Amino acid sequence: MYPSPVTGRQRTPGSQTSLREANRARLVDSLKQHGRLTQVELAGVTGLSPATVSNIVKELSASGVLTTTASSRSGRRAVEVALARQLGLVAGLHFSSRHLRIAISDVGRAVVAENHVPLAFDHRHDRELDRAALLLGDMLDSVGASLDDVLAVGIALPVPIDQSTGMISAPGLMRGWEGVPIAEDFEQRVQRPAIVDSDANAGALAEHRQGAARDVSSAAYVRAGHTIGAGLILDGRVFHGTRGKAGQIGHVTIDENGPICRCGSRGCLDTLAGGPALMELFRGDPRMQRLRDLLAQADAGDASCRRVIADAGRHIGIALANLCNIVDPELVVVGGELAQAGETLLAPMRHALERSALAGAAGVPDIVQGALESRAELLGCLSLAIDSIGVGDGIRFPAVAG
Ligand SMILES: [Zn+2]
Repeated sequence: MYPSPVTGRQRTPGSQTSLREANRARLVDSLKQHGRLTQVELAGVTGLSPATVSNIVKELSASGVLTTTASSRSGRRAVEVALARQLGLVAGLHFSSRHLRIAISDVGRAVVAENHVPLAFDHRHDRELDRAALLLGDMLDSVGASLDDVLAVGIALPVPIDQSTGMISAPGLMRGWEGVPIAEDFEQRVQRPAIVDSDANAGALAEHRQGAARDVSSAAYVRAGHTIGAGLILDGRVFHGTRGKAGQIGHVTIDENGPICRCGSRGCLDTLAGGPALMELFRGDPRMQRLRDLLAQADAGDASCRRVIADAGRHIGIALANLCNIVDPELVVVGGELAQAGETLLAPMRHALERSALAGAAGVPDIVQGALESRAELLGCLSLAIDSIGVGDGIRFPAVAG
């Protein structure tokens, strides 16, 4: 149903052909990042002249790489351009502490299937990757496609990932998945290329591409839920650090003498504001089993639940102030399950940031709720997969005359 992209021909550096191919790649990369754009917008983001954009769009539409549709912007006629659906599909897998979410989309980011299943506490890589492969196969089946149609799979986990090894980069955080080259393991199961990153980075990528941080070049995405992590967008790109540990604010020390953390340190933010730490405060209360119970009670006006969420916001705000003093983002976007508490969480976070972050002419960065809600990380997985296709070279082009 979805023919594979045809391999492009060799490029000769410096030749007219290589310039044309570089321009095509630039245009395709912009569509991978932004989804759908008008020809005028494409000229703006690529820096290519409108005539060059129009020529490339014509060539690549004729060869089936792009599709165009007539539309209007501000009352004026425009031609909207997107990557052609028949290029293939990508898949995203988001393993959180308690859930697996799976989505399949086309290369233009239109989601064609989405599913989620609960995971056992302390789940393990072998069992869950097997299950994910089966589930993905079933979902592809349901949209009339097969694994052969999948160009790449993006995977996210709630832990820092070393991009050079594809393994978790710090011990103690997720024992059942340690020491495993996760993407490779999944590739062996499905025989498709896979790429893995932390869920905070995936969420940051999605909020930057299509959510609350769309219009800024530097942003911090904080994911607060069972664990707390942050993904950093610096100058328009996800910043990983050397071993993928950049933005791991869950392990910033808040209290030197605080409780022992899974990571081996004491008084980390996770031990004070992570889901299990918050639920521990209600131990023995049968109404309070999961984070969602806490959120529901707070929403219903329960004072102690609201206080616990506010305290978590204050603690996250302290870690965030330190982060902001170091990386100076323009905007802070808050996602994860706890973000559903809205201003109950965000107001104390903002207050802590105002108290502890360096102020300037523009004040401290704004803190806003994520626009993509619980789907941010999953949509980020799809973007990870789309970005990984023909890295730096756009989609592999069918031979184009000239
Ligand atoms: Zn820790």
